[in-house]
Amino acid sequence: MGRTVLILLGYPGAGKGTQAKEIMRRLNIPQISTGDMLREEIQRKTTYGKQAEELMAAGKFVPDAVVDAIVAGRIQRADCRRGFILDGYPRTVAQAEHFSHELKSDDRFWVIEISADPDHVMARLIGRLMCPKCMEIYNVLSRVPKTPGVCDKCGSALVHRPDDVMDKIQERFVHYRAKTDPLVEYYKNSGRFRQIDGRPPAHEVTRQLMNFIDGEEMEGDMPPTTNPRKESIA
Ligand code: ADP
Repeated sequence: MGRTVLILLGYPGAGKGTQAKEIMRRLNIPQISTGDMLREEIQRKTTYGKQAEELMAAGKFVPDAVVDAIVAGRIQRADCRRGFILDGYPRTVAQAEHFSHELKSDDRFWVIEISADPDHVMARLIGRLMCPKCMEIYNVLSRVPKTPGVCDKCGSALVHRPDDVMDKIQERFVHYRAKTDPLVEYYKNSGRFRQIDGRPPAHEVTRQLMNFIDGEEMEGDMPPTTNPRKESIA
């Protein structure tokens, strides 16, 4: 049986990470967050980490070659055998083209854009806290930890990401519009694309997302039989 491959697109703060974590629990396939992996590379002071650090802190994109290599390596691991959820990758058309070579003909493949309006997500990002250890996400507006400043899951001190400040967020929005918006066009005609409204509460967004995936599975809508890159991602 082929892998379940889910790509989540959406503005910073649209809820990709929150949804990816929930779907991961439900489908039992891992979340692959390029943002989390890059932050880990920075903490470990690796060559990739050194290349990424300044760019990330400034709200800029990390070079395609770096993220392409990190993802290609990650999806070879045993836990991705049944599938995986990509959160934050691909983010450019060049990355999508690169990733298309990683897809297999029997993969069940979906691209979901969680839509959001910039004013709404700005408030979410400014209120966002994350656990640097287990990467759990909290929010002073909507998901308050039981003890202020402490991760419910692992007890670590929560941090506010250095790029979750107004000017860096604006910079990230600009990059999203310029580089990731074209990806929607790239995937739109694939027959595997769906836009979902990211404004309702998280559990409602999950419901819609799962309906989309389950509905597709129930209809027995199989992916293209040859490389999807050639057939359906024009
Ligand atoms: P967000 O989606 O909220 O901006 P992430 O944690 O997914 O946050 O990513 C944080 C940063 O990591 C991005 O602003 C960018 O610098 C870098 N990054 C993550 N994924 C990619 C990618 N696919 N291509 C280039 N840069 C990336």
